[in-house]
Amino acid sequence: MIELPELPEVETVLRSLKPKVLNRKINRVTVINAKTIKKPDATAFSCCLEGQRIRDINRHGKYLLFKLSSSLVLVVHLRMTGRLIYKDSSVPPDRYTCVIFQLDEGKELHFQDVRKFGTMYLISCDELDSFPPLRILGPDALDPQLTLDLFIKRLEKRHGQVKGVLLNQSFIAGIGNIYANEILWTARIHPERWVDSLQSWEQERLYQAVREVLSTAVKLRGTSLRDYVDGEGNPGEYQHHRKVHGREGKPCPLCGHPIIRIKQAGRSTYYCQFCQN
Ligand SMILES: [Zn+2]
Repeated sequence: MIELPELPEVETVLRSLKPKVLNRKINRVTVINAKTIKKPDATAFSCCLEGQRIRDINRHGKYLLFKLSSSLVLVVHLRMTGRLIYKDSSVPPDRYTCVIFQLDEGKELHFQDVRKFGTMYLISCDELDSFPPLRILGPDALDPQLTLDLFIKRLEKRHGQVKGVLLNQSFIAGIGNIYANEILWTARIHPERWVDSLQSWEQERLYQAVREVLSTAVKLRGTSLRDYVDGEGNPGEYQHHRKVHGREGKPCPLCGHPIIRIKQAGRSTYYCQFCQN
């Protein structure tokens, strides 16, 4: 089962790295896998980054945004198996290391990626709002400004099955397959329901479930089913708290009936046919 880092995992990477790399200087950048660097080319990428300091780290959906000293932003998407690991420069890179950021004080930040789908872009601050991958994103699913009213307004413009809408990053950003399944179980909404058919109390329950499931997963430092670890190499804990995802045939924690698995748009959906309608 391949699982992708979603909002809670990316937020955990951010929180584990921030205290370590904030205000640290990037002395040197070694690009081992040039395909990771999407903009500019690998040589320009390394040149521009050398001598920069990391002034802040933010997140929008599944994107990490490293703000640098001279109005540059390093945009990182982990995709399937990308990892950002902070380590001593005495520790040699592993065979999946794609980019090495040599920091001051004998430390390094390694971007490791088994499947090599992870991406990095170096852009200027002014480009942030118009940069195509970020421009299409809806508000971050945990953004305090995403109120119930705004959520419902956005939801009512959508069509199709509710699970597909949750996964659509232009609706709200950060939710992937694991948490979409958990959110729908928590909201007691059947994953094949059409969004247009949701009653107002169901819309509200969906909003509450988005917030509740994602905040709990952030507290538990994400889900580690296969590849995911935080910036210090530690796995998360949410996998022990899953209600439906990956639990086909196991009892629903609420009613005891077996969890069902179906395919929706090529992804596995897990739900309880008694609790979710
Ligand atoms: Zn149930």
